[in-house]
Amino acid sequence: MRSDSLTLTARYVFPVEGEPIRNGWISVIDGAISRVGRSYGLRPDFDLGNVAIVPGFVNAHTHLDLTPIAPQADREDGTEDEVRWLRRVVECRRATMPDESRQAVAKNIRASLDAGTTAVADITPAGLSWNAISDSPLRGIVYAEVLGLKRMRGIQTNSDAWEWIASLGIEDDGPTRRLRPGLSPHAPYSTAGWLYRRASTGKMPLSTHLAEMPEERVLLETRGGPLRDFLEEIGAWDDDWKPLGPSPSDYLRSGDLRKCDWLIAHGTYLHSAEWWALRPGLSERDRRVAIAFCPRTHARFGQRKHPYRPMLARGVIVCLGTDGLASSPSLSVLDEMRFLHRADPSLSGSLLLTMATLFGAWALRIDDVAGSIAPRKRADFAIVALPDRDEADPYTLLLDSDLPVVGTMSDGQFVAGPWTNP
Ligand SMILES: [Zn+2]
Repeated sequence: MRSDSLTLTARYVFPVEGEPIRNGWISVIDGAISRVGRSYGLRPDFDLGNVAIVPGFVNAHTHLDLTPIAPQADREDGTEDEVRWLRRVVECRRATMPDESRQAVAKNIRASLDAGTTAVADITPAGLSWNAISDSPLRGIVYAEVLGLKRMRGIQTNSDAWEWIASLGIEDDGPTRRLRPGLSPHAPYSTAGWLYRRASTGKMPLSTHLAEMPEERVLLETRGGPLRDFLEEIGAWDDDWKPLGPSPSDYLRSGDLRKCDWLIAHGTYLHSAEWWALRPGLSERDRRVAIAFCPRTHARFGQRKHPYRPMLARGVIVCLGTDGLASSPSLSVLDEMRFLHRADPSLSGSLLLTMATLFGAWALRIDDVAGSIAPRKRADFAIVALPDRDEADPYTLLLDSDLPVVGTMSDGQFVAGPWTNP
């Protein structure tokens, strides 16, 4: 076998752009897919057996520097109060040294690769995770977090973020880069409007937590409520703070913010009348705006039903993320898919896999190289063990199962699992 080429067969290949292929075959040359189709009994270099080959998962929202925070049942139904959880995150962050965070990043990159993830949208303080991710097989965007309602805090996080971006010395920030920097104003309740506006001046991709909980809208409308109590308690409230507007979506459409790419974490409490701001091509032609929905984090806090289905029906791109380990039991996008499938079995497997792969790739502007199994794209795959049964709908073999990801390929190289490249 030529060292720069390899061929794979599997019981199923799920190309995403196309129907599942039974007895699938994939040829890879120089790290790129050259052919995908049926095996027709040809002998491959690697017969992976009773598995599915799917595109590498795209984790559209995570914080790889965060460590687990044990769930607490604040309410009778066992769910947790999100504002109380925020207090625990702040305590945890204040007690964590940068070296500990870097160790968490290294561990969480490994866990992500083992879970079949090949691209991430990672949010981190001033590029903390950048070196480790750029040395890893992952592609995607590392967003530097900016936050602070108080002016001095905002100036500090803002200058840290911009200094980090300048230190990268990246001249061409085109989507051809494997890993790109971005900025993440944390959330309207924690981040002054000027920080959002400043973030929009860099022509960089942006991400934010938006309309995650009802308390945010209360704060924007009244400057009061539980979030204000929380901010006062941790010393983060500023009496002079004014929101960009009374609605979370004002943070997407004020001034140049309407021209930026946005990856919106959650978006649960955006009114349906505000969804137009999320539709590709409506507000600005080439702008990409997507929702990153994190099903298990969402369930932990017992928020209202997430509107991902009506959003999808109206043309909003909804991708899947795990969020960080502070709110999520694992960094596996497949676990998120299965959780959502159990909660909403009528959501088609095909759409669900697209949300976990191609939609995330689109939001990160890497859909020309990743997100589906198609000729000329990079050979980024997750290899998932399949149960020994047949199903009329092959997607249920992936979803009605607890069998794990058994291997991961990035750029045609095995990066997790028992196989090694020749
Ligand atoms: Zn988050």
